Amino acid sequence: MRDRSGWNPLTLAFLAALWIAVLCNGPLWSALRELPETASLRGTLFVAGFALMIAALTGALLVLFAWRRAVKVAIAVVLLSAALGAHFMSTYGVVIDPSMMTNVLQTDPREVRDLLSWRMLAYVGLLAALPIALLWRVPVQRLRLAAQLGRNLAAFVVAWLVLGALVFMLFADLSATMRNHRSMRYLINPLNSFFALATLAHESNRKPAGPPAPIGRDAKATPRAAGTAPPLLLLVIGETARADHFALNGYARPTNPELAKLGVVSFADVTSCGTNTAASLPCMFSHLGKHGYESRSGDSENLLDLVQRAGLAVLWLDNQAGCKGLCDRVPHAYASEPAPGASASTSASAPASTPASAGATAALCSSDGECLDEALLVGLDARLAALPAAARERGVLIVLHQMGSHGPAYSKRSPPQRKPFMPECTTNVLQQCDRNALVNAYDNSIVYTDHMLAQAIAWLAQRQPEYAPALLYVSDHGESLGENNLYLHGLPYAVAPREQTHVPMIAWLPAGARAVSGLSLECLGRERGKALSHDNLFHVTLGVLGIQASEYRPALDAFAPCRAP
Ligand SMILES: [Zn+2]
Repeated sequence: MRDRSGWNPLTLAFLAALWIAVLCNGPLWSALRELPETASLRGTLFVAGFALMIAALTGALLVLFAWRRAVKVAIAVVLLSAALGAHFMSTYGVVIDPSMMTNVLQTDPREVRDLLSWRMLAYVGLLAALPIALLWRVPVQRLRLAAQLGRNLAAFVVAWLVLGALVFMLFADLSATMRNHRSMRYLINPLNSFFALATLAHESNRKPAGPPAPIGRDAKATPRAAGTAPPLLLLVIGETARADHFALNGYARPTNPELAKLGVVSFADVTSCGTNTAASLPCMFSHLGKHGYESRSGDSENLLDLVQRAGLAVLWLDNQAGCKGLCDRVPHAYASEPAPGASASTSASAPASTPASAGATAALCSSDGECLDEALLVGLDARLAALPAAARERGVLIVLHQMGSHGPAYSKRSPPQRKPFMPECTTNVLQQCDRNALVNAYDNSIVYTDHMLAQAIAWLAQRQPEYAPALLYVSDHGESLGENNLYLHGLPYAVAPREQTHVPMIAWLPAGARAVSGLSLECLGRERGKALSHDNLFHVTLGVLGIQASEYRPALDAFAPCRAP
């Protein structure tokens, strides 16, 4: 017996498609309405036609699931992703492309918690929960399989015919808009999310499985002159720090009070590889550079593997969401984990500069394991000493992966006693903040990074004369702080504003001494205006550590001109 009362799954699918196209695409409609080309009547008709196109495409997708038992669940999933997409795009001015989706998939609970807000709840409630609640009350029609299949096929064909007709009629405006405003396509919700997921799935299928291709097979440490100390490089990977908010680069506020006194060199014109962590981080450690990395056909090992293969000691210490696979083959730890040999009772006897105790870590970390960046320095002596002695004799590379200025909860990135700029924005709905309070919270995180780097330099200075120390700091990408109504980061690189791609890079060497590899700080200071990028990092690091390898390109080693012959 078939029950012919109730709603046909197809009706529900197309109602949901219309709801999503019109109501969940606010960011797209406001972006389109801001274009001068849409001010006319013709423009209004184009926007209306565009909405119908999205409805037809979403409908065609939902038709595939228009079966009595599947349709409600499918619509609920699509509504939820559309509501979340609408919230993030309208609240932070981001777009959803494959690179942003990589970030979403690699996120952790702490990042998610930083993004939760009442505004998000309102979006999900109104755009998804409300229609889902209505949907669940509606009885669904039971048809014979053949009858439903026939209707679904017809609906699928009609949806594509409508779409084709609209594209034909609006082609001139459509192609001009999509060509001139390339990031617009990443606002089409929720198809942008599905497109990004499909692209990532396709890419991961295309890549050969198995271990990454080895690099640095011929890597070796340059023999040192007798009586000289092995290099010890602290490579600090910053997070979301933008170059133009560093006083060292000319920012009007005193955001570098400590580093300014330490004679560091701040490179003023450095460009990031990507606009988000998942894109930038692997690229920074690749020997391929931005262009080569983005067009690579398979995975290869990275800088850390090469340095270890050359016989040096390597350690990755993380205070963030992890190393994105970079540190899989080298020693690594989280800052929230106690250093080897640390115990809660030694805090009183530990040296003031580097407390080696679990108690010191606990003071910097909250109960859920989120730590201020100084936790990276706690017990660093013990972590260094735990690396193999023979390798340390050739040299040491320690990477510190900061939490830095990770948003949108900037105010959590600095402790209460290190907040010179008040009042601070404390909500994660950045648009609701007073712009000055938002910049205050962000700048306080830069001041805290300044303090943490100064502490790192103090620790390094004490490692002499056993080691020849050096520090290199570079951020993974920048951040938008409301310029042109954009917030956070992650816009497609081609359209990303300079705030998201212009990153700070800072070098320190001990004063006076021609320290590591004969480098002179005075000479580096004369080079600080040079245009550099993440492409230089791999080669600069090998140069500082005195490692020879066929992957090393002297032309990309920005420090090479400053090395004594
Ligand atoms: Zn990042």
